Amino acid sequence: MNSYKIAVVDGDGIGPEVCAATIKVIDEVIKGARSIEWDHVAGGAQNYLDTGVALPDETVERCRSADAILLGAAGLPGVLYPDGTEAGQDTTLQLRFELDLYANLRPIKLYEGVKTPLEGRPNINYVIVRENSEGLYASRGGGNVLRGETASDTMLITRKGVERIVRQAAELSLQRNGAPLDGKKRVTICDKSNVLRSFAFFRSVADEVLADYPEIEVDYALVDALSMYLVTRPSYYDVIVAENMFGDIISDLGAATIGGLGMADSSEIGESHALFQASHGSAPDIAGKGVANPIATILSGASMLEWLGGRSDDSLLTESAFAIRSAVEAALAEGDGLTKDLGGQAGTQDCVDAIVRRL
Ligand code: ATP
Repeated sequence: MNSYKIAVVDGDGIGPEVCAATIKVIDEVIKGARSIEWDHVAGGAQNYLDTGVALPDETVERCRSADAILLGAAGLPGVLYPDGTEAGQDTTLQLRFELDLYANLRPIKLYEGVKTPLEGRPNINYVIVRENSEGLYASRGGGNVLRGETASDTMLITRKGVERIVRQAAELSLQRNGAPLDGKKRVTICDKSNVLRSFAFFRSVADEVLADYPEIEVDYALVDALSMYLVTRPSYYDVIVAENMFGDIISDLGAATIGGLGMADSSEIGESHALFQASHGSAPDIAGKGVANPIATILSGASMLEWLGGRSDDSLLTESAFAIRSAVEAALAEGDGLTKDLGGQAGTQDCVDAIVRRL
């Protein structure tokens, strides 16, 4: 029997609750047909408070040797390094850099049964492909504050970084059914190339890569305009490729259009490692109350099975991923297990039960 080891960083706030929910769903769908070892490892803001380190070296090594990583959420407001940045954020950021998890895939899909604040209930189904290893966040820990007067962080864009992320976006578009509006396979390059050279370079390298994909329509959007279009015409989008910070920001905007952060899943993929976590943070305002929406993490867990299944040529995992997504879709459509953020009354456990009943 194939066996897998998954490193689990429960993290802070609602992190342990959404991880437990996801493990429960995966264990239920696998039903002992594969051996999955859940290796819980330390990390996060609370770990920083307890030990002085947000991401211990041992955690990095156990994540490196695991088949995949599941992360709840890391970070707590007010738990800061002396430089004023959030300590817990290092858990995810350092793992991204250490394991070179350069492609952050963030699907934005409006499910039947979930309310959107947008008028006319547009058909929303696109993926933000966020560059995850460079851009402005590459400067993390390396910015300068001089004499209490000036501060600077440097944006890093490399040819290799742009080429590989745009190729990911194009390959993803080929696998999809195109934009809901017109069925066209379309890659939108999100940047601010009209102002900064770094983004003009990003766009020109992206153009070079996309020239290899004549079947894909190339679309350009400045990030400010795109922020408007994601509200006014979200159905136009198929795959959006963006620099690290822009991708981070527009994915929260996208999440708001599909029921909120509790619905936004995410995969962070490299050549040999991958980490799966919801797009949301630790939501300390609702932590420990049993009310967090676990769907974003459960869908991330489904993506983990799909990724593992593809790498290990294990169709049971791929089918299990499909089963989880179908069960989530059915529960939402039937209004069963809707948590408060989705307008329901269910708690985290009720939501898990509704999904498990449909597996
Ligand atoms: P970070 O910067 O670490 O990503 P954030 O500032 O985006 O975090 P979150 O912790 O994601 O903040 O929370 C933002 C809001 O969304 C909070 O009001 C929180 O309660 C809500 N929220 C986030 N995740 C969920 C969830 N899974 N279920 C219900 N509500 C959530």
